[in-house]
Amino acid sequence: MAGNWKMYKTSGQTVEFIRTFAPPACEADVVICPPFTNLAAAVQAAAGTAIEIGAQDVFWLKEGAYTGEVSAPMLLAVGCRWVIIGHSERRQYFGETDETVLKKTVAALEEGLKPIVCVGERLEEREAGSTETVLAKQFLQGISPLTPEQFARIVIAYEPVWAIGTGKTATPEMAAAAHAFLRGQIGAHYGDAAAAACRILYGGSVKPDNVKGLMAQEEIDGALVGGASLDPASFAAIVAAC
Ligand code: PEP
Repeated sequence: MAGNWKMYKTSGQTVEFIRTFAPPACEADVVICPPFTNLAAAVQAAAGTAIEIGAQDVFWLKEGAYTGEVSAPMLLAVGCRWVIIGHSERRQYFGETDETVLKKTVAALEEGLKPIVCVGERLEEREAGSTETVLAKQFLQGISPLTPEQFARIVIAYEPVWAIGTGKTATPEMAAAAHAFLRGQIGAHYGDAAAAACRILYGGSVKPDNVKGLMAQEEIDGALVGGASLDPASFAAIVAAC
């Protein structure tokens, strides 16, 4: 159960959130991904709790003249354990492609970070009936070049772009169908055991009042939550559904 805070909260607000946030004890990994500037404060505040901290992006080289970028060794050094890669907002506004998603995922894995790799179709693609074509291409180009050992260490997030921040959630059945399709792609490429073991999160307007229906689907292994992860009580209620 991962919270993507996007460009919200200062480091003070991050510490305040973590002091207040009281998710129930559970088997799920509980991850918060604040902005880069808040990572050190978040790691410190979360020390001794079950909360793990992730970043929202990473660059694929270790260091160099790349103004504004942050590398995987830097994230590891600050205490990050996870990183979101290929979020649709990065694809839409910052030129992220399946090729850069792959490079970033490999770089994160080399440092021992756990990537949450995002895929998902845009509204016009769903309306054109090409959801599966889009997912297949994102899997083929952005994920399937990973070795089986690398693949075993990633988490996939299916996030239909039309459901992100819009209040429109995919129905549990729609989400489960997309997850099943992705699992089929994984199975065809990496084998049935890898497909069964891979955690696929759903993301897109997950809220305390719709999370139970989503999590009741066997295909859905967790959630990547944006807006509703910004409030400690709301995110704790979502975690409770797992
Ligand atoms: C996200 O940012 O990954 C996301 C799913 O956002 P929201 O929950 O606000 O739709």
